[in-house]
Amino acid sequence: MSKQLILALSKGRILDETLPLLADAGIEPAENLSKSRKLLFDTNLDDVKLVIIRATDVPTYVQMGAADLGVAGKDVLLEHGAEGLYEPLDLEIAKCKLMTAGIDGAKPARARRRVATKFVNVARRYYAEQGIQAEVIKLYGAMELAPLMNLADEIVDIVDTGNTLRANGMSPRELIAPISTRLVVNKAAMTMKHQRLKPLLERLALAVEQRR
Ligand code: ATP
Ligand code: MG
Repeated sequence: MSKQLILALSKGRILDETLPLLADAGIEPAENLSKSRKLLFDTNLDDVKLVIIRATDVPTYVQMGAADLGVAGKDVLLEHGAEGLYEPLDLEIAKCKLMTAGIDGAKPARARRRVATKFVNVARRYYAEQGIQAEVIKLYGAMELAPLMNLADEIVDIVDTGNTLRANGMSPRELIAPISTRLVVNKAAMTMKHQRLKPLLERLALAVEQRR
């Protein structure tokens, strides 16, 4: 195992909130990320590199040890599962909620509720826990459309303000889990590279604390 540390960042909406936090912890990309098509970046620290990847790919990179640590939404981690990962720090950014939602006033009528979501594992687990029979339908985006088109009775999705739901005549129903962005670390790296990881984790924890 090389002494280099690879940090995997979720591109998309988490990235804008992650970079200032990393800067506070003393880690800065060596070049402007938004002006580049590259995916692998040097930082101001000789032994730390960044990869910028799809949010849903971050747990896989870290679990497999292709990256030593990563930044990912709790929603993505719940869906992916925690095998091979430590989750030592809540970065307390990109806060939102995983919720069920449906069309205003519509009562879920049928015995086997049809649920559209990209979080199929989370949804199956949740409805099973509630003792509700559910047929979970995998979608990759625009979940709000599914009930309107009578593809589903309900959706499981990220809710922040609820504006997207309301704009489509829907409202949130049940809270499944509060969500924020987490730091994850490869289990083997946590042992093998502990010396190098420890000060980095401490600086990040401090940066989070200073924002409270
Ligand atoms: P892709 O667009 O590549 O399919 P994605 O839609 O999961 O991936 P984003 O929309 O950028 O990517 O969301 C990334 C993460 O940001 C989510 O996993 C979640 O943790 C967080 N997030 C999503 N929506 C919100 C929101 N409305 N408010 C706060 N955080 C959010
Ligand atoms: Mg998106």
